[in-house]
Amino acid sequence: MCPGYADNDQGVTVPPWKIKVVEPIALGPEPERRRALETAGYNTFLLRSEDVFIDLLTDSGTSALSQEQRAAMELGDEAYAGSRSFFRLEQAVRETYGYRHVIPTHQGRGAEHLLAKVLVEPGQLVPSNLYFTTSRVHVELAGGVWTDVSIPEAEDPESTHPFKGNLDLAALERVLAAAAPERVAFVRVEACLNMAGGQPFSLANLVGVRELTRTHGVPLILDATRISENALFIKDREAGHADSTLAGLIREIADLADGAVFSSKKDHFVPIGGLLAVNDDDLAERVRELVVVYEGFPHYGGLAGHDMEALAQGIHESTDERIVRHYVSQSAYLAGLLLERGIPIVVPVGAHAVFLDAKRFLPHVPQEEFPAQALAAALYLAGAVRSMERGIVSGQRGNDPYDGLELVRLTIPRRVYTQEHLAYVADIVTDVYERRELVPGFQMVYEPAHLRFFQARFEPRAPFLEPPREKSRAAAVR
Ligand SMILES: *Cc1c(COP(=O)(O)O)cnc(C)c1O
Repeated sequence: MCPGYADNDQGVTVPPWKIKVVEPIALGPEPERRRALETAGYNTFLLRSEDVFIDLLTDSGTSALSQEQRAAMELGDEAYAGSRSFFRLEQAVRETYGYRHVIPTHQGRGAEHLLAKVLVEPGQLVPSNLYFTTSRVHVELAGGVWTDVSIPEAEDPESTHPFKGNLDLAALERVLAAAAPERVAFVRVEACLNMAGGQPFSLANLVGVRELTRTHGVPLILDATRISENALFIKDREAGHADSTLAGLIREIADLADGAVFSSKKDHFVPIGGLLAVNDDDLAERVRELVVVYEGFPHYGGLAGHDMEALAQGIHESTDERIVRHYVSQSAYLAGLLLERGIPIVVPVGAHAVFLDAKRFLPHVPQEEFPAQALAAALYLAGAVRSMERGIVSGQRGNDPYDGLELVRLTIPRRVYTQEHLAYVADIVTDVYERRELVPGFQMVYEPAHLRFFQARFEPRAPFLEPPREKSRAAAVR
């Protein structure tokens, strides 16, 4: 164990920080929660945050800033061009990840948009481990074809494979042999693969991907949004890396790719920000030509000077093993409580979240009736815990036959909640599990054209998490 922090007897890592500023939260009564849920069309994205008690919707932009980040923000240089804050950010990226060109964007999808515009020609393939919603939509809007080359274990919530984020090298080789280099835009590898439950790739696998992409002459781009946690899993799980520093492993991962996209709203502890970082001069030039069209001048890319200061400092903190280890241990703690109570979750536990397996949680709800959406709504109604659907609603448009993962994500914001908050969440999940027969399937009553999970609206097909009529009448008589 690293000096400087200790484990308590529940195996929980003691946070390497204490709390200086607090934000009040409150649990409203059940009728208010039911009204809020109806108003939100049973979609947790459409709830007001003041109606939420514990907000595990996302780890995106929800971190607590450190005192060093807040102090750095005072130094923000808001010059339109040549901002001192940009050069500090550029230096932090170069020192940490080694990429020569740094293009800030307003958030991760801004970087994905620019990358897709520059690298993807209509009809070209983008092989990747599963997908991320915004990553795929930008590739598809540019005419590209998303091609899954994840290992089969990625979509098996019960497989205990330690590196479910790995690419299937044989599948990748087949795709590249048939289409590369002309018909492949780039190969994308996502760290701590969100759609599989926050699952890492191994360094050995990434080395294999690097060799294949080099042989076939196509760029390798990391979605490095959760690179710190992926590096920690490599340190803990992959033979030969136990003595590496976290910073060293992060750099080793980054060095294997030609460039990376970051949503800094996750590992970098900032409320807003993203990055595109590449080595190739020509590629960087082409991105800078577009950044002025879509984001802003290349020295701020949609961010304020103070945002870039907080981001530069956050990048340094994201290589601190004590901070990253505490964060990952919070998911493990919550998962441990749920496993003890027999609740079906994705194993091994990933980096940033605990994923409930809605197919096993609500076996009476067929996938066409959106069991994960229904489960997320039920957790809100039961205890104002906000989670996110990661299943058929996020996965695709339409109701084509689909047998992929159907998950509810309980995502842990960084440095925000305590062990007591997580114990409360476990109790609410347990309560819904005990009453699971009372959670019916949903029908979708509004479907937006893009990324439908954000704004779709639903109606339950039967009374929602209410005791059966006869029972409540009997209770009233008594
Ligand atoms: C959040 C995220 C993105 C998109 O970034 P935004 O900052 O939300 O625009 C892309 N890839 C992954 C893996 C993410 O988690």
